Amino acid sequence: MTDTSGVKIHPAVDNGIKSANPGFSGGELHCHCASDPVRVAVKSQTAHNHVCGCTKCWKPEGAIFSQVAVVGRDAVEVLSGADKLEVVNKDAPIQRYRCKGCGVHMYGRIENTEHPFYGLDFVHTELSDEDGWAAPEFAAFVSSVIESGVDPSRMDAIRARLRELGLEPYDALSPPLMDAIATHIAKKSGALAA
Ligand SMILES: [Zn+2]
Ligand SMILES: [Zn+2]
Repeated sequence: MTDTSGVKIHPAVDNGIKSANPGFSGGELHCHCASDPVRVAVKSQTAHNHVCGCTKCWKPEGAIFSQVAVVGRDAVEVLSGADKLEVVNKDAPIQRYRCKGCGVHMYGRIENTEHPFYGLDFVHTELSDEDGWAAPEFAAFVSSVIESGVDPSRMDAIRARLRELGLEPYDALSPPLMDAIATHIAKKSGALAA
């Protein structure tokens, strides 16, 4: 058995995963600024919540994974602090809006209408004080944590800990999401009927 004691993934999962509340219908995200925080309303439950090992998602201090979910872009509204937001990288497929004050990413948006996930925004529900958000379901881009400086020798313990938490580790997105992307591409190319 691999020793998983002491392996930290993300504060939202390290002490066990909180389950979603059935009638949960959204809440408010706020950044980490002590005064005048950016506030963003997310007016529905999220989907496909997961922990992500990529180097692009925002992570809280000390965490090696982020926690990120999607929600329809129409459900996302900046309530205050819009002037403090800036796009991290305008050339990236996902335009991640970060607070200039504290660096927290408030939401990520896809502007390319051809993108398989167009219409969905990416949000970190840990920025909300409410309980009841959709629980993380899997771990994406696990091998990529090495790109952030995690020693490769730790990967066995990290994958074992993810499995212990019920977060199946994948080195891309989960199979259903990879299938959705491939289906989108096949319909565009004509390999599948649209
Ligand atoms: Zn801030
Ligand atoms: Zn990511």
